[in-house]
Amino acid sequence: MQGTMEQNSIEFSARPWRLVATALLGALAHTAVCWIALQLDFFRGSAEAFNQLFTLIWVGHGAIALLLLSGLNRRLPDPSMSLPVVLWSTLGLLVSAYFVDQVRLCVMVLFFAILQTGVFRLTFPRFLAVSTLCVVGYGLIIWRVATLFPEAIDVTAEMIQWSAFTLITVGAVLVANEISSIRHQLIERNGQLSKIVDRIQDMAIRDELTGMYNRRHATERLSKIREMANRNAFSFMVLYIDLDHFKRVNDNHGHQVGDEVLREFSSMVRGALSGRDFAARLGGEEFLVVLVKTDRSQGLAMADKLREAVTGLNFPSAPGLKMSASLGAAEFLRGESMDQLLARADAALYRAKHGGRNRVCMATEEPA
Ligand code: GH3
Ligand code: MG
Ligand code: MG
Repeated sequence: MQGTMEQNSIEFSARPWRLVATALLGALAHTAVCWIALQLDFFRGSAEAFNQLFTLIWVGHGAIALLLLSGLNRRLPDPSMSLPVVLWSTLGLLVSAYFVDQVRLCVMVLFFAILQTGVFRLTFPRFLAVSTLCVVGYGLIIWRVATLFPEAIDVTAEMIQWSAFTLITVGAVLVANEISSIRHQLIERNGQLSKIVDRIQDMAIRDELTGMYNRRHATERLSKIREMANRNAFSFMVLYIDLDHFKRVNDNHGHQVGDEVLREFSSMVRGALSGRDFAARLGGEEFLVVLVKTDRSQGLAMADKLREAVTGLNFPSAPGLKMSASLGAAEFLRGESMDQLLARADAALYRAKHGGRNRVCMATEEPA
């Protein structure tokens, strides 16, 4: 139920003028009906009583409208303010109905306009509470008028009208209940859908086996970082990492163990990186690490830390297995393209492999 209320608040507080316009139009209709009753002598009490009552009603509506239009309502627990509007309109209706004899029902039917506003804005228990308040209030008014002014009222006719009013209100409550349950289902479906969308988005940017970013997403992010680095003149580094003799792991221990090595390696790398840096699996046993706002010496230190950590990895399914990795590191040179930067890192990785593996090589500044 809390969820529904929040949903209501978000939905309707975004368009407060609609509620304000509806409430003011309703108040206008209410004033007009009672004014006509006054002109036709159905309004018990003087024009002064009429003026006082409707001044009070309009002051209340004005205050609510000001709150809604000024945005102050956003500080309230329920910023939609639907309940205060519906309650104030209903109370105004009931009090005026006390003064209107013979055509009381004409005033009370305006309650269905109020209910129409409430059906999409109020939670079902609140809708039910307001409906009950109105039906009971209407009954009490008839009883009170019958006690105080027996000559002004035809109790039988009033009771028939009250019964019809009650029946229609019960019908409205049943419809509101139906709408409320449809809305609940919709809200639930929306929640499920947005979870699915999140999952699909996640699947689109991540590698399934390791949970690391995939090549496409890494390339997108890297290109943004390159643009920012070019504009703001900060340095960043890329590390190309390739596991050494990985094929042998598959050949000697099986593909499952190969997968486990990839997963263990990935979780180690992610644990080693700070928040703004990121890693991606480019394919097979090749990875890319991007170190943002990192200069050459910091980048080389991180590269060596990762290389060292690979040699320390243990694999539960293959206890004796030891791995190593070769790394090519390149610091971004202002103005160069992403392809140029990656080609330099790749050439450095190639040298690390040919230099005997399990090592870090720094890229030269010449284009590869
Ligand atoms: P080097 O030291 O020169 O890098 O040798 P290497 O054996 O690591 O490199 P090579 O490129 O010859 O072999 C990579 C192997 O990785 C081949 C392929 O079967 C394996 N591989 C690629 N993707 C996966 C995967 O998702 N799971 C497993 N288990 N193996 C994979
Ligand atoms: Mg390899
Ligand atoms: Mg390879």
